[in-house]
Parts: sequence; structure tokens; C-alpha cells
Amino acid sequence: MRAYSGEKLCAKCFTESIEDKVRATIAKHDMFKPDDRIAVAVSGGKDSVTLLHILAKIESGFPKATLCAVTVDEGIRGYRDEALKFAVENCRKLGVKHTVVSFKELFDIQLDELVNKLRKDRKRNSGGLSPCAYCGVLRRRALNLAARRVKADKLALAHNLDDEAQTILLNIMHGDALRVARVKPVLEKKHPLFVPRVKPLGEVPEKEVAFFAYLQEIEFQSVPCPYASTALRSDMRVMLNRIEEKHAGTKFTVLKSIEKIRSALEASVKGTVPLQECKFCGEPAANEICMPCQMLHELGVR
Ligand code: SF4
Ligand code: ZN
Repeated sequence: MRAYSGEKLCAKCFTESIEDKVRATIAKHDMFKPDDRIAVAVSGGKDSVTLLHILAKIESGFPKATLCAVTVDEGIRGYRDEALKFAVENCRKLGVKHTVVSFKELFDIQLDELVNKLRKDRKRNSGGLSPCAYCGVLRRRALNLAARRVKADKLALAHNLDDEAQTILLNIMHGDALRVARVKPVLEKKHPLFVPRVKPLGEVPEKEVAFFAYLQEIEFQSVPCPYASTALRSDMRVMLNRIEEKHAGTKFTVLKSIEKIRSALEASVKGTVPLQECKFCGEPAANEICMPCQMLHELGVR
């Protein structure tokens, strides 16, 4: 078996190399304090469940730290309900306390209902946004609310190297080049109501995460979300995988390129208005009205 570095490794060494990579990422970016309460965002897919297993192992060496899991149920019939079972089962096996929040509870609408609304009234979807665009904004909010609910100091996301490279290129393709500066291993506390986010898997390629899960016999949901194919990300994934096959290391190079220019990008946006509180919901917002409230208002939900 071949690790990302190109080395040939046995199963045991491969598994340890992934754990070491995660430990190194955590240490390099100073992601946790020894007494942190860490909430892992667990969707039930391979990345999040694998991260939960690795962090549970690491956390066992830090008696003052606590680990819990949070799951967002977006309300995607036949998909999230399945994934939820894997999230619940893995948390049970690891003895990790698990909290589930739902779009229905928080925003009074399930993603399936929201998509039906979009399809019925194309005019309201004048921006041509995909279900993922709505889902992403609402899920980020839901995760922050869930992390606060469980009193977490940090929210650990399972974004892998592929996710990060895709997001960087997608921001450029969306004409939002300055946003690439925000694709980083640690998203600091930008507002008292914002729970800092960390990405310990950020330097581990998706294939290696999958292999790790397979070797560890970790059970996860492998069926893709029914809306995934509608997103530009899906095309970006295919494109990057093709390039990576021919030119190994491309995804890593994309990530490292942004690291080199991030400080310059951040300096160029300094002076922008700090986060305020949304005048409708009171949550952190870049403008007077936060993105979730704007979206829900446009859909006639709020
Ligand atoms: Fe949400 Fe899109 Fe992910 Fe499905 S693929 S869970 S719609 S972001
Ligand atoms: Zn709001």
C-alpha cells in the first residue's frame, strides 16, 4: 500500500502514518488546548467518522480534554436518516456523547422542503443557487449553534485535503478570490458567539481517509447525497482527481500555494467591518442581516 508521500507501507504503518499526520497538523496549527471541550461535526460519512475515531484515540491521552459529537440533520430523506444511524452507532462504540440538531428545529424547514420550494418557484432562485449553496450556509449556522449548545471550545470539521483544494479553486471560479484566504486549518473566534473551527484532516487526501476507514473496519455511510451532483463542487472533484492522477501532488500544491499568499490576502481585506449581530436572529453576521436569514426570508420561511 502506498501513502501520499509515495512510500510503500504495511497496513499497520499506513494507519499509524495517518494518525501521525493528524497529530502533526494539530500540533503545527496549535488546534487544541489540553483542557478543550471538542465537538466533532459527525455527518456519518467516512471523513467525519474517521476523524471521530482518530480524535477519540488522541483525546484518551489528554485526561482534561473532552470529546463530543454533533450532527446536523438537514432533512434529506433516504440519505441523512441513513447517515445518522452510522453517526449514532460510531458514537455509541466510542462512548462519545452525541447531539443532533435539525434544520426543521432550527429553521422550521427541511432541506427537501426547501428544494421543492426552489423547484416550484424558479424565480425566487434567480441567482441559480444549487441546493448545496443553501445547505452549506444553513449547516454552518446549525453547526455553530450545536457547538454552543454543547458548550464546545472548538468545533472539529472533517474537511480533507481534497475538500480544501476544491474549495480554494471553487472560490476562484465563483469570482471570490479573497475568500480563499479563509480556507485555512483554524478559523479563529471572530465574534463571541462564534465557536472556533479546526480541520485536523486538512492535509490528508480523501483516498487515504477512505483507506484508513477500511483498514480500521469503521462503518460509515457511502451513498452520496442526492443533491451532490447538482453542485459545481462535484465537477471540480472530478477535474481535480483527473489532474491528480496524471500529476501527483497537485491538490497539496494548491493548498500550499494559498498558505504562501494568505497573509497578503488577509492584509488586503483588513479594515473590513467586524462581524455584527443579525438584526433578526442575533447571530454573528457580516451585514445587518445574516445569510441564513436572508435566504430564509427570500424563500418565504421567515
Ligand atoms: Fe447538503 Fe449538498 Fe452536502 Fe447534500 S451534498 S448534504 S445538499 S451540501
Ligand atoms: Zn439572522
